[in-house]
Amino acid sequence: MARISLEHIRHAYSPRAKAAGDYALKEVHHDWEDGGAYALLGPSGCGKTTLLNIISGLLHPSDGRILFDGRDVTELSTEERNIAQVFQFPVVYDTMTVFDNLAFPLRNRKVPEAEVEKRVNEILEMTDLAGMAKRRAQRLTADQKQKISLGRGLVRANVNAILFDEPLTVIDPHMKWVLRSQLKRLHRQSRFTMVYVTHDQTEALTFADKVVVMHDGQIVQIGTPAELFERPSHTFVGYFIGSPGMNFMPASVEGVTARVGDQTIALANAPILRSDGKIELGIRPEFIKLGRDGMPVTINKVEDIGRQKIVRATFCGQPLSIVLAEDDDIPTDAKVSFDQHAIGIFSDSWRVENRSSRQG
Ligand code: ADP
Ligand code: MG
Repeated sequence: MARISLEHIRHAYSPRAKAAGDYALKEVHHDWEDGGAYALLGPSGCGKTTLLNIISGLLHPSDGRILFDGRDVTELSTEERNIAQVFQFPVVYDTMTVFDNLAFPLRNRKVPEAEVEKRVNEILEMTDLAGMAKRRAQRLTADQKQKISLGRGLVRANVNAILFDEPLTVIDPHMKWVLRSQLKRLHRQSRFTMVYVTHDQTEALTFADKVVVMHDGQIVQIGTPAELFERPSHTFVGYFIGSPGMNFMPASVEGVTARVGDQTIALANAPILRSDGKIELGIRPEFIKLGRDGMPVTINKVEDIGRQKIVRATFCGQPLSIVLAEDDDIPTDAKVSFDQHAIGIFSDSWRVENRSSRQG
């Protein structure tokens, strides 16, 4: 188990990309606590696999250093870093039995056979493969192979960290849920530092203590699921976390009021503006009220999604999504109002700090 420090990591895949300034990772600089369960969340192509391979040592970064518990491991191999990694696509030895596949990482490290037996049996139980221990891997289905791959990552008892790269993609939703809860339980027992890559926010939010959101080769925020929801530090986080994502509206700010189109909106605090760049107001669909009082809004569509309703509206010429409880009424001639404590202000995509009323 180890604290993982990423110091000024950048990566370009070729000298040509480097010369053109085309970096798959741009300045990643963060400390991941020992024993943490981190989910690395972001859309396809944002650099998740690149970062994972740099941590495990499969890839040498163009710039920067990786430290485990303060020790520089940048020049060490995966083997020397003592990391277990589970890849996006199953890596299974077809001619070996399921048991031998799972035993491989242990036997490779000369773990005594009695210990191998014990660990492999635990993993067989956990992955629901106990009945297939003696079968050749070749004859298994794609999701069974993926479970073997996952089990191989988990079988070693003493690693610095376990890295999972979208390990449950081909597994059916129910089994996915079961395995994810197992992983969470295992994490609570073992306190391995775990990094779990996914592009699925539900998966990230249910697995991790801390979610690391990546966008365009950068980490834009690390936070608990609640922090990401309530205080996104970047417009991308607001948009990517939540369904539907945060609403953004171009605005101009003066003191404690913002103007959107011809409407004036009261803010809880005056923002400290860092640049003259474009300002956007961000507000979660869950923190918008529709009632008899407020500002004019046009309702275009109401989508019933079971326990909630999503209202698609237009406010000051901008699209606005609103989430209501299923039994909330929408008055005819509805007006819109915002919870002022839930309004975020963003400048050049980043959240602008508020001048708190206590500080004056
Ligand atoms: P993710 O895992 O988030 O989908 P990747 O880390 O695989 O993203 O990719 C990040 C960026 O690096 C993408 O633009 C991708 O096209 C590029 N990339 C990934 N692997 C290679 C490679 N082997 N050679 C060149 N470019 C690559
Ligand atoms: Mg990937």
